[in-house]
This record gives sequence, C-alpha cells and structure tokens, in this order.
Amino acid sequence: MDFKLTDAQKAHRDEVFKVCAELDKKKPKTWVGFESQFDDEVGWAFHKLCAKEFAKRGWLALGWPKEYGGIGDMMDKVLFQEARGYYDLPGADIFGVAMLAPTLLAAGSEELKRELLPKIANAEWMFCELWSEPNAGSDLAGLTATAIRKGDEFIVNGQKTWSTGAHFADWAFGVYKSDPNAKKHHNMTFILSDMKSPGITVKSIPYMSGSHVYNEVYLDDVRMSAKYIVGQENEGWAVVNVLAGFERSNLDMVYGLVRGIEELVEFCNETKRNGRPLSQDPIVRNRIADVSSSLEAVRCLAYRVADQQNRNEMGLMDAAAVKIFASELMEKYGHLAADILGPYGQVKNSPWAKMGGTVEYTYQGCFVPIVSMGTNEIQRNIIAWYGLGLPRMK
Ligand SMILES: Cc1cc2nc3c(=O)[nH]c(=O)nc-3n(C[C@H](O)[C@H](O)[C@H](O)COP(=O)(O)OP(=O)(O)OC[C@H]3O[C@@H](n4cnc5c(N)ncnc54)[C@H](O)[C@@H]3O)c2cc1C
Repeated sequence: MDFKLTDAQKAHRDEVFKVCAELDKKKPKTWVGFESQFDDEVGWAFHKLCAKEFAKRGWLALGWPKEYGGIGDMMDKVLFQEARGYYDLPGADIFGVAMLAPTLLAAGSEELKRELLPKIANAEWMFCELWSEPNAGSDLAGLTATAIRKGDEFIVNGQKTWSTGAHFADWAFGVYKSDPNAKKHHNMTFILSDMKSPGITVKSIPYMSGSHVYNEVYLDDVRMSAKYIVGQENEGWAVVNVLAGFERSNLDMVYGLVRGIEELVEFCNETKRNGRPLSQDPIVRNRIADVSSSLEAVRCLAYRVADQQNRNEMGLMDAAAVKIFASELMEKYGHLAADILGPYGQVKNSPWAKMGGTVEYTYQGCFVPIVSMGTNEIQRNIIAWYGLGLPRMK
C-alpha cells in the first residue's frame, strides 16, 4: 500500500488536530486518561461534550457507507484517531462507535442499521459490552447467562462481569445462552438491550487506582425484545467473532503514546541525574528509541488495517496480531515512563506530578490491554490456529 497522504487527507488531518487541540483546553483538571471518562459525572460530561462536537462534524461515522450517513474512509478514521489519541480525548464511544457500528454494518439487519446507526453517529446512545462472566472469559463459549424466548421477547437471567462503563451506558450489547440443548457455538444469541430495563443491577468493581470504571452486571428476569437480535437467533457466536475483530484491531489505545514520548523526551532534557541530563544516559536513550520505533511500526500497522478494512479483508489473525503488538507496546511504555520519572511518576493531582500526573495511572493500567479484549495468550492461539494452521492443543 501507499503510505503517503493525499492532499485531502492532509487537510482532514489538519482539521481534526485543530478541533482536538481546542477540546484539549476544556479537559477537566482531574483527567488522567481513558478511565477518567467513566470515573465520575465530570469525566462522563466531558466524554459527551467531545462526542457531540465530533458528531456534528460527522466524524463518528467516518468510513461508513454513505447510505447510512457515513463520510470519508477508514484512513480518515485513522487520522481522526491519531488526533484524539494525541490529545488523549474521549468522545468516540469505544463500544458503540468502534465495535458495534461496524458489526451492525457487517452483520445487522437493515432495520437495526436504520434505527441504531444514526443514534451512534449522533452520540445519542452510548453502549457497554456484556460478554464476560465470572466463569467465562477466555472460554466465552462456556457462558451460562440464559435468554429464554417467550414470543417476541427473551427473558434474560445471569451475571456479567468486568463490564466497562456499564454504570453510565444507555444500551448494551450482550451474548446469552438461548438454546441449552444445542451444540456449543450454535446455542447463543447476540442481543442489544436498554440498560434501564427493569431487572438490571450494576455494581462497581473498584479499580486499584480507586476509580469506578468496571462493573458486575446482574440480570434478573430482564425482558429483551427479539427485535434487537444482531445476526441470527442461536448464531450469536458468529457475531461475537465479527465484533471481536473490530475490538482487537482498534488502535485507539496506542495513539496517546506519541505525546507521551514527546513529554518524556522533554523531561529527560530538563532533568539531571548524577550531574548530567537524563537524555545523555545511553540506557534511557535506547529505551525511548526502542518504544518510539515500535510506535512508528504501529502507525504503519494502523494504516495497513485501515486499508484492509476499506477492502473488507480484515481477518481474525490480523486483528489478533494488532492486539498483541499494540498492548505489549502499551505495557512497555508504562514501565519506561515509570522508570524514567522515578518517584515523580508515583504522584498525581500534586505539584510534584510531572506529565500531568498521567504516569501513575498509565503504569497501573498498562497491563489491562494484555488481558482485556481476550488475553494475549488467546490471541497467540488464534494466530497459531487460523494463521499458521497449527493443530489445537488437546
Ligand atoms: C480491565 C478489564 C476490562 C474488561 N472489560 C470488559 C468489558 O467491558 N466487557 C466484557 O464482557 N469483558 C471485559 N473484560 C473481560 C476480559 O475480556 C476477560 O478478562 C478476558 O477475556 C480473560 O478472561 P478471564 O479474566 O476470565 O481470564 P481466564 O479466562 O480465567 O484466563 C486466566 C489465564 O489463563 C490463560 N488461558 C485461559 N485459557 C487459555 C488457553 N486456552 N490457552 C492459553 N492460555 C489460556 C489466560 O490467557 C489468562 O492468562 C475486561 C477485563 C479487564 C481486565
């Protein structure tokens, strides 16, 4: 593929960076990163403010077909992600915009596309993901929450866990066992539901940083309309795989590192240790250069993913490879920043905090992408099975 940007792409890039720079000035003082959007009302309000600004420019529908209100292509979407990432801005619902919308385009009925895509593009509904259960994470197909059909509805019972942002989400996409007698992988249905439905209880899983991001979700006789099935009844596993591809190839998480590296370099130029600037320490220089070059590689990978998505050629193996590379880079950066900042990296909301106090948060959370979205061990299994044709382990 050609990695050079066209004049139109360069103009789009200038515009998205300009708008994001303006929004950056409105960021709440307590903002430390991704989690902040879910942590309290202030973070959530900022998320919605950004979302509305992006929606009115059509940027939440970048890369969609024109008949559903889309503009631009996947490359324009990547440039938008780069700008949002650089300024560490929320506003593009990771569940609605990044995962559900492309899944609906690929596997949703015409009726669902017409009803839901405008709500996502206009930032009217924010979503959460109700997949994992206390005993079903890597082995998601072993889930036990049930959705029993009664006429035009399902009665849903069970417990979901780790549900990011479920305490603020308007709607959820979930997967439930709908035919207890059918074979594994042909016994579950992918259903969308209103989070205000009677019978849904959301309880916080307190995160180690003290923030409220993750939740347990209890479902007691929740009525979900059959109108909101994505794909076919009992064939939700196929939809899970489509959505997981979009979830894992979403590179939102790494774009923030570009600015992180710039700030680290500044810190190293300004800070002396043992009588000389940190920027002259060969080990520090090597480690920064190592992460920076991987970051350049990720950018090329993102452009390649966009190119594949424009041609509908994104495979399960490609998504797994992107997820491994990006998440391991996040972890490497988290350790690098914490090591270089030393004690300064352990404080936030303090005059002693450097880099906006984001390093404490980044270090604590940098392992998260290795586990969430399906662990990297599972991604390596996917590459082994689907990419290399290696046999499954008995
Ligand atoms: C911060 C965070 C946010 C999350 N957000 C959401 C969310 O919003 N919605 C949602 O539905 N889920 C969410 N998850 C859940 C996430 O998808 C699961 O944690 C993940 O799939 C792993 O499942 P598990 O935690 O049950 O671990 P387990 O499946 O119990 O795995 C434990 C360990 O065993 C390894 N392992 C398991 N099976 C194999 C195998 N076959 N081969 C090799 N190794 C194996 C795993 O790699 C892992 O190291 C989130 C998780 C985290 C940590």
